[in-house]
Amino acid sequence: MTGSKARFDAIGNLNLRVPRRFELPKDKEGNPLKISEYFGINTFCIEKMEKALSESNYFKLISAIENGKSLSYDVADAVADVVKSWALSKGATHFCHWFQPQTGSTAEKHDAFINIDYRKKALEKFSASQLIQSEPDASSFPSGGMRTTFEARGYTAWDFSSSIFIMEHTNGKTLCIPSVFVSYHGDALDEKSGLLRSTEVLSKKAIELLQLLGDQQVKRVIPTLGIEQEYFLIDRSFFNLRPDLVMTGRTLMGGQSPKGQQLEDHYFGSIPSRVQAFMSEMEYELYKLGVPVKTRHNEVAPSQFETAPIFEEANLAVDHNQLTMEILRKVALRHGLSVLLHEKPFAGINGSGKHNNWSIMSTMNTRSSCFSDGENLLDPGKTPHENLRFLTILLGVLKGVYKHSGLLRASIASAGNDCRLGAHEAPPAIISVFLGDLLSRILNELERGTGTGLSTQVNVLHLGLSQLPQVMKDNTDRNRTSPFAFTGNKFEFRAVGSSASTAFPITVLNSAVADGFSDLIEDLKKRQKDGLVKESDILDVIRGAIAETRSIRFEGNNYSSDWVKEAEKRGLPHLRSTPEALDQLVSPTSCEMLTRLGVFTESELNSRFQVRLERYLKNKIIEMDTLRSMVDTQILPAAYAYWGSLVQGVSAAKSAGFPAPQIERVEKLSDLITLLQTQRKALEDVWNQGESRENERDYAYLLGSLGTRLMEEIRLCCDELECRVSDDYWPLPKYREILFLS
Ligand code: ADP
Ligand code: MG
Repeated sequence: MTGSKARFDAIGNLNLRVPRRFELPKDKEGNPLKISEYFGINTFCIEKMEKALSESNYFKLISAIENGKSLSYDVADAVADVVKSWALSKGATHFCHWFQPQTGSTAEKHDAFINIDYRKKALEKFSASQLIQSEPDASSFPSGGMRTTFEARGYTAWDFSSSIFIMEHTNGKTLCIPSVFVSYHGDALDEKSGLLRSTEVLSKKAIELLQLLGDQQVKRVIPTLGIEQEYFLIDRSFFNLRPDLVMTGRTLMGGQSPKGQQLEDHYFGSIPSRVQAFMSEMEYELYKLGVPVKTRHNEVAPSQFETAPIFEEANLAVDHNQLTMEILRKVALRHGLSVLLHEKPFAGINGSGKHNNWSIMSTMNTRSSCFSDGENLLDPGKTPHENLRFLTILLGVLKGVYKHSGLLRASIASAGNDCRLGAHEAPPAIISVFLGDLLSRILNELERGTGTGLSTQVNVLHLGLSQLPQVMKDNTDRNRTSPFAFTGNKFEFRAVGSSASTAFPITVLNSAVADGFSDLIEDLKKRQKDGLVKESDILDVIRGAIAETRSIRFEGNNYSSDWVKEAEKRGLPHLRSTPEALDQLVSPTSCEMLTRLGVFTESELNSRFQVRLERYLKNKIIEMDTLRSMVDTQILPAAYAYWGSLVQGVSAAKSAGFPAPQIERVEKLSDLITLLQTQRKALEDVWNQGESRENERDYAYLLGSLGTRLMEEIRLCCDELECRVSDDYWPLPKYREILFLS
């Protein structure tokens, strides 16, 4: 009966948990500071640079940032000096280049500022070269075969476009320099290099397109991004008692609790006080790092929550999302909680996504981080010219998504997301675009080129040349089932998994849209006369694009099985599992586009394929191994023990001359135990095939199909046992305990 003791203790200990208090900073009079007073205090942003540097050095730094040039050594030295002074004044003892290898998370190697001079005197030093570049041993980061061990050099280089910051930990502070990570030969080994390249090419193509439409002023176009982060929060003791959560981030088994999310009472409900205490502290930490978190609420599933920031330029938003995930994890621990970022921690209730609200903004300002004068190019305009621009940009996006939907699917593929995509509450594994009723009607009218079109009550289009559509913001309808939905003035890429780095999906999206723009540019150029394109010709190009991209648009319920059939009829890729999806990464179309635009070389792309395939395999193997060990050391022993106690009861009853009511249970239990033993053996056989398989891709396909199915069957058997074995014997915290007790 000892198996369940730890579980009962964990439940009992919940009574001792109280919301953790922490002190918000106060002014001299003891009044709490406003958020604006501590927002960004741990970042060394461009404004602080401006104050600290001489005018000429600041000017040189800015022009290097704006023009993508390298910094001269003397300027870099001056910058390093002011960064060092700031960091030391804040109490930092170490510095590191903070980068994003292809592991999905971040990496850092700390060095102390301390140095010993020739008189053996200790002093703090931080040189230009330490600021600009470092050389971590790259051999332990995934490179997908791009780097052989004898060429293990990798370099990190300061990415000026993101702010330097200080990360605090219990007993110290570290200065972090956001960086890209490249190989000795300059190949991108990380998630950021591609993102930065895609941002550049998107800007270049968008400017070219705008110029053809007559906008000559625009200097830069910036993708903007607001990332909604969903997560689960559970008591740490329950987490620790579940080897599956500890090893894989999700429960590999667990019987459904009678109450799940069916009462719909959690979404936007009042936030539990322990969670509220956690959120306040988490947000405080993020504000100090300059992350503009804005909303917080309960999500649909029990114990599921969301946090979302104010949108920023995509590069910064990606960094800030990484920091958000890290702070979520760290602060949860202080509150005796565990945060689950996995896409599907619990079967039968909603999984978690990371909705990427994406748009593009034009600015006449060259500075990348500044878009106060920016205009959202996906904001339907008020004047005919703005509407024409909006429609052109919209069709550029549609073209990109239409041409590269397989690649977009691949960009969000992971073992975790496979558990979520296609489930009843998550976007399916088919990429389509939702535009909303009004916009759809406008595009349909335009395509047909008929009559005056829509009712005059809504500002609508007469297809005469100077009477362009008065497109209105479409805030009326929402489609939560679409993987890529237009929401008034931005697109929401909802298929990204909650634990993913969004750098790669956004890299792919930026590139696909840049490619869509390229096509439109080509079409418009054919019609250009004396440097001008007539409105009627622009409309023609738009019409052509509407017709071409028709099949990617879907307004209905993406969760329905009819949609799957319909999508297949339309010829849209339906890539159910990661191995299938990953093939799209290296398809001729993807390869041609990404290399032509200069986002990735062919070998960089192949390496991304390889890294993702390997990560998928490793995740699957860890899951299978964890499941096997849980069955062997927890589930079967509990079942045997309970079975044994029943059998004892049966024989005692018989020898006392009574009928044994337990007999039916004993039989059922015997059947389940036998079944589980057989399934467990079958799983091991699949697992062992990895040894003999040369080809990783084949093995991934096997684990994605047969392996996943077997794990599912084992799960069902364990869940059935959970319902039948006495509570006193069951070692694993149950769904009803994990999700409803806090
Ligand atoms: P929803 O539309 O999902 O109800 P919000 O309007 O609050 O929610 O927006 C969700 C996220 O979209 C927020 O992070 C917000 O900052 C972001 N967002 C709003 N406008 C833009 C934009 N132009 N570009 C990128 N993200 C944006
Ligand atoms: Mg949203």
